Amino acid sequence: MTAADTVLVLNAGSSSLKYQLLHPGSGERVATGIVERIGSDDASARHEQGGRTRESEGGIADHRDALHTALDLFAAAGTDLRSADLLAVGHRVVHGGRRFSDPVLIDDDVVTAIDELSSLAPLHNPVNLAGVQAMREILPDVPQVAVFDTAFFHDLPAHAATYAIDDEIARRHDIRRYGFHGTSHEYVSGVAAEFLDRPASALNLIVLHLGNGASASAVRAGRAVDTSMGLTPLEGLVMGTRSGDLDPAIVAYLERVADMDIDAVDRMLNSGSGLKGLCGDNDFRTITARIDEGDERARLAYDVYIHRLRRYIGAYMIDLGRVDAIVFTAGVGENATTVRADALAGMDGFGIAVDPDANAVRSHDARRISPDDSSVAVLVVPTDEELAIARKAAELVDGS
Ligand code: ADP
Repeated sequence: MTAADTVLVLNAGSSSLKYQLLHPGSGERVATGIVERIGSDDASARHEQGGRTRESEGGIADHRDALHTALDLFAAAGTDLRSADLLAVGHRVVHGGRRFSDPVLIDDDVVTAIDELSSLAPLHNPVNLAGVQAMREILPDVPQVAVFDTAFFHDLPAHAATYAIDDEIARRHDIRRYGFHGTSHEYVSGVAAEFLDRPASALNLIVLHLGNGASASAVRAGRAVDTSMGLTPLEGLVMGTRSGDLDPAIVAYLERVADMDIDAVDRMLNSGSGLKGLCGDNDFRTITARIDEGDERARLAYDVYIHRLRRYIGAYMIDLGRVDAIVFTAGVGENATTVRADALAGMDGFGIAVDPDANAVRSHDARRISPDDSSVAVLVVPTDEELAIARKAAELVDGS
């Protein structure tokens, strides 16, 4: 497989950089890799290409170094990205704010805009931008495309996007519900429509993206009409380490009674809450094993997670009026059979049921796990954000 007509997709996290080189049409991967623990002494990189894994360690101080390391690993595998005929580099950018409703070609103006949106996503946008800037230097002749996690939710109806707080303060500080994981919600909605062999315009879907971060959305005729994440990815479902919804008064209460400053509370809600905060673990494989051994904390964490998930499913059933399919995706949604079964248990009266045999099947393909005769199709659709980003980048470049 050659690197011509491929897209390099970059997903830069706070201390990691994931990348894939792929053909947007077929989805074939030329290479995948990850650089981890960037900035620490035990930084390392792993690159898979042509059936072989190559590794590199140390000397990775920042995202620019990480990209140079990745380029070296590509070269060692026989691909010189500087001379490869890349269609584009696609960058996952977390926050697109009010401005970005679609992927954009990155120029100086877009860089400034992503930088300005950093106040809304301080953990994400600055590192996404570090990847963008390094790549613009390294491959100046290749079009760079930003694909925003918020874009699919840009046009949420006002009643779903608006917080019931002081309107003037909200306007002044751009406070609204933006939603995240949009690339995934949009992608699996499209695959679900193909799987059901019906036009997206005829379908009402509830999409449950359950990974370490987790979000739900209600999609009517291919457009999102509600989603569980808000100004930041903290709102909504119980997640691996994030609390999701809570009484906002808890923040002020903790400041008053627990001597925690606002940063400490923010840290706790984002990194020390959710499943991890409740039971010390955030991986469902461990949590399920602990439940099987009779562990009460793990049981409660699981029950809280399922309870919140069912609440959102119920809310979106009402939002949509008619539901054609409920779609599970991401690490938990694709693999945790008990979560899928428990999330939808006892909903037969609404035409929603899970067939235990179909639910137990392990596969990388989209599949139906509801009985053929139930009116709501329950689907498992593996997400592929990299492919979605590659396709959006290629489409934008082709059309320009
Ligand atoms: P991220 O949000 O980091 O992209 P993923 O979508 O990769 O997360 O999901 C990671 C989570 O998926 C893990 O924390 C774990 O809870 C869950 N998971 C992965 N594989 C399995 C499995 N075989 N069974 C149950 N849960 C799984």
